[in-house]
Amino acid sequence: MRILLLGSGGREHAIAWKIAQSSHLEQLFIAPGNAGTRLHGTNVDMSATDFPTIKTFVLAENINMVIVGPEDPLVKGIHDFFLADPQLKNVPVIGPNKEAAQLEGSKDFAKAFMMRHNIPTAKYATFTKDTLEQGYKFLEGMKAPYVLKADGLAAGKGVLIPETLSEAKNELKSMLADAKFGDASSRVVIEQFLKGIECSVFVLTDGDSYKILPEAKDYKRIGEGDSGLNTGGMGAVSPVPFCDKTFMDKIENQIIIPTVKGLKQDGIVYKGFIFFGLINVKGEPYVIEYNCRMGDPETEVVMPRLKSDLIDLLEGVATNTLSECDIQFEERSACTVMMVSGGYPDAYEKGKVINGINSVTDSLVFHAGTSSDGPVVLSNGGRVLAVTSYGRNLEAALERSYSSIEKISFDKAYFRKDIGFDVV
Ligand code: ATP
Repeated sequence: MRILLLGSGGREHAIAWKIAQSSHLEQLFIAPGNAGTRLHGTNVDMSATDFPTIKTFVLAENINMVIVGPEDPLVKGIHDFFLADPQLKNVPVIGPNKEAAQLEGSKDFAKAFMMRHNIPTAKYATFTKDTLEQGYKFLEGMKAPYVLKADGLAAGKGVLIPETLSEAKNELKSMLADAKFGDASSRVVIEQFLKGIECSVFVLTDGDSYKILPEAKDYKRIGEGDSGLNTGGMGAVSPVPFCDKTFMDKIENQIIIPTVKGLKQDGIVYKGFIFFGLINVKGEPYVIEYNCRMGDPETEVVMPRLKSDLIDLLEGVATNTLSECDIQFEERSACTVMMVSGGYPDAYEKGKVINGINSVTDSLVFHAGTSSDGPVVLSNGGRVLAVTSYGRNLEAALERSYSSIEKISFDKAYFRKDIGFDVV
């Protein structure tokens, strides 16, 4: 197989690492990739959303499969672009088409989908600039705290949870009338606040059948004890102790099956990963959000826990034979701890020399935001490295990651020292 993987983060490094272990792999290209992905294939200097350039590359290199890491190319319709092109239509794209990617690209679409298919989620209503007054009334009928969500993609910043009614009204106005998140907040979903503990469940589907991947829990806030600003994710663990068989069965029966069936009923062909952002409210699972791709940093623990050949599974997706694929998981636990640039998620500096990666022998070091200058690895983003370890349990895995991190250094590096604090 000649594979093109799109993206440049820790998620893509973890996928590249996994694909590189497959006996079916002839050559792997990663566009644009990072200093870590080049260890498993060839980085190509090409944007993941530059569809015409991707077409030229796919034809020139006889690519047999395209795997899409991030949501942007999916929401912009890369799958549809391939299907509509006579020269590309036989090259499978792992990742849903534009309509299906609305599960992530539009919160209103996702909520309406869940209501239509009886999938447990918070009660909600959607408002626009023209219905601002009704929005205020709706807020008056709700209890604090209030959950306001920009309908479109807002780089993970489009959800606000004000504590008071007056703050909530002000935020609603600034989102709708003053375009606080640009076009993404031209519609706003207001929903009931759910109190519970969150987890992420991942499914691979060919549109008919599905396979559930190991679940994970990520840590979004910059500060210890889950304090401070939201980030892209500071660490993750898998398995999640409270996701026992009873809870996972509820997730499968009440959420996964109705989602896969619902997509089919709605005439949506979904091929790829579905990420269920869930919350456990007194033992009952509710959907907080759908994403149309794997999560980051969750992928950095999910891929290491997948024993089966990833290309086999992805071929199953491409050829509608996923139900025939066997899927095996690693018994050991896995955790990842993210090393970030000082200052992140506010302003931070890039281009810092990273030392010590090669002296780590007990952990996998997935690159998230790095670039290279010959053999030298430089920081190139807010989230820089994801240090993943196995362990006989989460405690052992975490201990290993924290001891590996001690061997890596770059100027102003920061990491949370309490990943897993609430579940171990
Ligand atoms: P992400 O960065 O995870 O993609 P997003 O912008 O797509 O975020 P959501 O995942 O819908 O937005 O919400 C972000 C976070 O806000 C959730 O992880 C959760 O902590 C909190 N949240 C969202 N909806 C609710 C709710 N109804 N009740 C309580 N908390 C919520």
